[in-house]
Amino acid sequence: MKPINVVGSRVDIVIADDEEEPDLEGRDGCYSHDEGRILIDEDLAPALRWPILGHEIGHAVCKAISIEHQLIDQFHLSDNDAEKLEELICRLFVPVFLDTLERNKWLRPPVVR
Ligand SMILES: [Zn+2]
Repeated sequence: MKPINVVGSRVDIVIADDEEEPDLEGRDGCYSHDEGRILIDEDLAPALRWPILGHEIGHAVCKAISIEHQLIDQFHLSDNDAEKLEELICRLFVPVFLDTLERNKWLRPPVVR
């Protein structure tokens, strides 16, 4: 898939299996800030890939705006709690936000192959 731009940084999207990409083991997708890429499990049905990609883009945006550091510095959360809160934001906020954009025809999700 074509790379995407997340807050000014290139992010590659790679569809792979967990044998070639051990980071995917037990997960549908993951984002690596250091590698600048999102991995999506190729075993996922194509219709399920977009929500997972949306979730991982949520993580990429959170990293780009340093949300974990904000939570640690401003709200004195532990690293672990900041990480859990970021996950919660990506799990709860991102799908509803994308759904809102879609319902208003402001978003046409890609076919993720
Ligand atoms: Zn997540």
